[in-house]
Amino acid sequence: MLEVRNLQKNYPNFSVFVDFKLKKGEFFSLLGPSGCGKTTTLRLIAGLEKPDSGKILLSGEDITNLPPQKRKFGLVFQNYALFPHLSVSENILYGLSKESNEMKKERLEEMLELFKLTELKDRSIRRLSGGEQQRVALARSLATKPRLLLLDEPFAALDPSLRQSLREELKTLQDKLDLTIVFVTHNQEEALSLSDRVALMDKGRIVQVATPFEIYTKPKSDYAASFFGQVNFLELEVQDKKLKWGGTLIDIDLNEGIYRFAVRPEHLIEGKGVRGRIIRGSYLGFAVEYIVATSQGELRYLELNPHSVKCSGTEIELSLLQAIPVGKKS
Ligand code: ATP
Repeated sequence: MLEVRNLQKNYPNFSVFVDFKLKKGEFFSLLGPSGCGKTTTLRLIAGLEKPDSGKILLSGEDITNLPPQKRKFGLVFQNYALFPHLSVSENILYGLSKESNEMKKERLEEMLELFKLTELKDRSIRRLSGGEQQRVALARSLATKPRLLLLDEPFAALDPSLRQSLREELKTLQDKLDLTIVFVTHNQEEALSLSDRVALMDKGRIVQVATPFEIYTKPKSDYAASFFGQVNFLELEVQDKKLKWGGTLIDIDLNEGIYRFAVRPEHLIEGKGVRGRIIRGSYLGFAVEYIVATSQGELRYLELNPHSVKCSGTEIELSLLQAIPVGKKS
C-alpha cells in the first residue's frame, strides 16, 4: 500500500535513510530513542519535509512530490495542534470544508459517537482534559477518511492509565475501520502491544523490521536485544549442537563455537545449571528482580509470581530456558 523506497534526508549533522513497505490495514511502528530520526521519517511520508533522494509510492502511485494536503493523510502529533478557540465540533469539521453540509453532518455525528464526544460537542478545546483533547485530535484526523494515518507520539503527554485506555481504543478503532497506521514512539511497550510490525531505528537507519514477538524473541543485535527491557549478555560455548550452561547441556541448533548470547531475566529459572549468590532483590509485585553473582558474572534474574523475597546472600542455582544468539566470537 505504502512503499518508502531508499528515502534519504540530509541535515548538516544528521541523515535519515529508510526503506520499507506497508500493507493495507497494517499498524506499523517506528521505534527508537530520541533523535534517531522517527519524526523526520514521518514528516517525509506526510510531505512536510522534502527528501534529498528516494521515492514514496502509495498504491503504486509516485507521491514523492505531492503537496501534503493532496496526499489525504491524517496526522496527529503529540501536542494535538487543535484550535483552542474553536469547539470540539468545529475542530472535527475543520478538514471537511469542501464537503456538502449533509456529508459534514453525517461525518461529525459518526466521529462524535465513535470517540464518545457527543456530550462535549459544543465545548471549547480549552475546557477539555488531555485525554479528551487527544480524542478530538484523532476524530479530526479521521473525519476526512484518510488513506493513511500518521501518529507521532500521540499519547506521550498523557498519564499512564489514560495512555493505556487510549491505546486500547486506538487498536479497537484500527480493527473496526481497517486503518493503515504509521506510529512513531520511543516507548517499547507501546510499540510491542499495538503493532503488527515494528521498525527499530538507530542513528537515522532502520536496524530491524519484525513482528513484536519476533523482535523480542529474535533480536538481531545487542542494540535490538537491549532496547526491549533488561538483558544479560553472555559468552557461551556450543559443542555438538549443545550449549554448555554450568553443569548442564542444552540442545541448540548452532554450529560449534563460542557465541555471544542475550538472555532475558525471565528466561532464567531456579533449577540445575549455574550456581550463584543473591546480591539483592527488588520486589515488583508481579515478580522479584534479583541480581545474582555467578561464575558467568552478575546475572539479572526475574522470578515471576513470587511467594517471598529471598535475602541477600541466599545461594541459588539457575537453569536456562532460552538464550538468543546475537553474534559469534570464534
Ligand atoms: P524524538 O523522539 O526526540 O522526537 P526523533 O527520533 O523523532 O526524536 P528527529 O526529530 O527525526 O528524531 O530528529 C533526528 C535528528 O535530525 C536530530 O538530531 C535532529 O536534531 C535533526 N533534525 C531534525 N530536523 C532538523 C532540521 N530541520 N534541521 C537540522 N537538523 C534537524
